[in-house]
Amino acid sequence: MIASAVVPQEFSALSVITLAADAFYANRLASSLRGMGVTALENFDSLSTMTARLGEVNVDVIVCEIRTECGDGLMLPSLLKSLYETGTLTRFPSVFWTGETTLDPAPIVVDGTSSRLPDSVLGKHWIKRMGGVPISSLESHARLARAAGIVVEILREGGGMDLGDALRALVDRQSQKKEQIDTATFDALAEDDVISALTTGKGLRFVYQPQFDLQTRRVVGAEAFVRWHHPKHGEVPPSVLIPLVHRLGLDLLLFSLVEAWTIKVLMALKKAHIEIPIAVNASAQTICTPNFAERLAARMGEADLSANLLKVELTEDVPAADELHLSASLTAIRSKGFQVSMDDFGTGSATLKLLTNLSFDEMKIDGSFVREVQQTTSSRKLISGIVSWARLLNLNLVAEGIEDEQTIALLYRLGCRVGQGYALARPMEMDEFFDFMIQEDRSRLSAGVNDVSL
Ligand code: C2E
Ligand code: MG
Ligand code: MG
Repeated sequence: MIASAVVPQEFSALSVITLAADAFYANRLASSLRGMGVTALENFDSLSTMTARLGEVNVDVIVCEIRTECGDGLMLPSLLKSLYETGTLTRFPSVFWTGETTLDPAPIVVDGTSSRLPDSVLGKHWIKRMGGVPISSLESHARLARAAGIVVEILREGGGMDLGDALRALVDRQSQKKEQIDTATFDALAEDDVISALTTGKGLRFVYQPQFDLQTRRVVGAEAFVRWHHPKHGEVPPSVLIPLVHRLGLDLLLFSLVEAWTIKVLMALKKAHIEIPIAVNASAQTICTPNFAERLAARMGEADLSANLLKVELTEDVPAADELHLSASLTAIRSKGFQVSMDDFGTGSATLKLLTNLSFDEMKIDGSFVREVQQTTSSRKLISGIVSWARLLNLNLVAEGIEDEQTIALLYRLGCRVGQGYALARPMEMDEFFDFMIQEDRSRLSAGVNDVSL
């Protein structure tokens, strides 16, 4: 009797393209993928032959071989981005980079010529490569591609994800996405709905995420985030709402809502003898509104709250031409006693240039670096660099997007003292946050201040 091999069904719905110039490598990839149950599979030996096909079928993933002699794999993310921008693609396929992994001794440069390190130090300086390309370069390139919205995984032998793990993560992401509201649905949202929500406040609320001292685990602050429950579409994420608010020029209206909610929270906490600063997000456009600082100071004064309990986080892209205006506004806000923070440092326009030109109390490390800190040496180096810059510029530092315990410990070792993220506490509804703070205060009082340390 012949036993028939059982082919798994887990990945049978995926449409996969392999991009490999070398026929032997392409066959190897194809047999691995078929063995995992992938049936919709095609191979292309160059970007140019693959491009037309991308316009015809919906591809879930492109598994592509990295080779120094052929730059196609490295060029793939920028090709995908331009196809998306011209409308040929409606969504990005994931990109998995794979290739032969090697360990080479690092070259040193002597008198302008490259040579190998002496044997005595070999073993200390090694470069890990995939298909001849240093993994550290691949990691930086992958980070840029991810910032552009493309999922890129590096499948290196003997570490991290393998092909099966990466496909499984892709299938998980796809099923999670289905549960979420489709972003495209919101393109159809009537602008009237946004205007009505902002003017009446109906359906809008704010949630609060505590920020912690990473050593003592005491709450040292919090951040407010908007939430919108649309009567027909349900929860609308800020990534959809905020650009709409921006397009409609309603930033200040949104800010006045977060300001009112947050003042309410601060007053309730003060009544319970808890005083921690709460950060509110504000676009450059909001911050540059005439008399913004005076108005904010008046509101806080009416509530009998000290200005240092409110922190303003600059979130949006800042057009260079507005830097002078923004600089004046930030200075006015700080002179009223409010703290000012630069959100998402290291991404978009939250650059070193802006940080050194403008006046801030704090910088926040973007969650995209924090989430990679365990896997990639480049993220660790980057965060160490940011820690040094913060010290040099005398700025407080907050790491956001901390999702597990190991990351808390690692960030602390790298010099970050304050952080927020799901591993510490998720954003909470206002009442829940209030109860959480009361509880936190009680346990702090009963346990003493230096109770928990890493
Ligand atoms: P942000 O200010 O950088 O906020 C951080 C985002 O990370 C929040 O998403 C927060 O809920 C989420 N987050 C917190 N911890 C974790 C974690 O451990 N893992 C992950 N993956 N995410 C985490 P949210 O609430 O969706 O807000 C997204 C962005 O929308 C904010 O980024 C901010 O730029 C903007 N935003 C939110 N609320 C407001 C608002 O009231 N006004 C303005 N102007 N912008 C807002
Ligand atoms: Mg923020
Ligand atoms: Mg942020």
